[in-house]
Amino acid sequence: MPPARPRKLAKVPFVELADGRVQGVVSSGSDIGRVYVSSVAASTYEFSCSTNNNRPCGGARGMFCNHILALINESTLQYGAERVARYLRVEVPEPTAQAISQTMGATRPSQGDSTAAASVFSQFLRHLAYLEFEASTAPVPELQWFPSTRAAVV
Ligand SMILES: [Zn+2]
Repeated sequence: MPPARPRKLAKVPFVELADGRVQGVVSSGSDIGRVYVSSVAASTYEFSCSTNNNRPCGGARGMFCNHILALINESTLQYGAERVARYLRVEVPEPTAQAISQTMGATRPSQGDSTAAASVFSQFLRHLAYLEFEASTAPVPELQWFPSTRAAVV
């Protein structure tokens, strides 16, 4: 499905509304080799955020971290804010990413465990594997989150 509005895939390469959650993969702001698997559950707004090696996110202690905020923001670009609000069961008069995040945050949601992270991450890898590209020497936006320096280092 084409995004409702253009997204920056480098920041949030994968986001989906699935399994009763907004969930996805968010690039680390500081370490280009690391990604976070973040999710927020519908109704309870129970959230979780951990790295791809299943380490807990230091920012997600008692409140939404920046990865979760980025995930919600990107989900509204991908699916439209109204659909995201409806999916999460957030009652806001005029849904925006900020209003949705604030409304959920105000309920002081609890932090869930990271059991979902492995399945979210494998969904993401499957999603990447299904992408088909025409042979091209031009930059591929879907792959821009991959650290380009990695190949040189290894
Ligand atoms: Zn986080």
